[in-house]
Amino acid sequence: MKLVLTEDEIRAGVARMAGTISGFYGQRHVTIVGVLTGSVILLADLVRQLNMPLRLALVQARSYRGRATRPGPLAIDAEHLPELAGRHVLLLDDIFDTGHTLQELVSQLRRHEPESIRTAVLLRKQGRQQVELEPDWVGFDIPDEFVVGYGLDYDDLYRNLPCLMALEAADLAAGEPLA
Ligand code: 5GP
Ligand code: MG
Repeated sequence: MKLVLTEDEIRAGVARMAGTISGFYGQRHVTIVGVLTGSVILLADLVRQLNMPLRLALVQARSYRGRATRPGPLAIDAEHLPELAGRHVLLLDDIFDTGHTLQELVSQLRRHEPESIRTAVLLRKQGRQQVELEPDWVGFDIPDEFVVGYGLDYDDLYRNLPCLMALEAADLAAGEPLA
């Protein structure tokens, strides 16, 4: 694996995003909807730096199965969402790749008739987008590599790494999970 972002760089990026998002919403009430599972670390770090009154919610979206590093069909489970009608919703995900996940989530959440809906991601992969939607806030643009750490997984491992690492061909070829 090779290092893409250090823990310090991520911390600075999250603080930067928090500043911009706080400035944008002011004292408006916001419902932050984190996309499970990859956004949980970001969610926890980000919300503790936001000063507006806010609610937390979670939605599950899954397009990767096991050791896949390219997306399959998208499954969304929005069953546990709270009332979003009339609320300012900020959808938060770990990474914007093709963009299909966020675009589909935005269109599903719109059906709940929120007052507004915006999107923030920690990472955006360069040259991969296939949708019209652009996230409102992006922490970092990164090269087109499969990354893990800070919430992002490979076969559900590595979410706990404090930094961001790119898997290399040898890592992906390995039959067993990396030690
Ligand atoms: P999209 O729908 O934008 O193509 O993909 C977004 C989702 O795919 C993210 O929520 C994330 O779960 C997953 N994903 C995309 N690229 C990567 C990556 O490089 N590493 C990991 N671990 N997940 C990724
Ligand atoms: Mg995800």
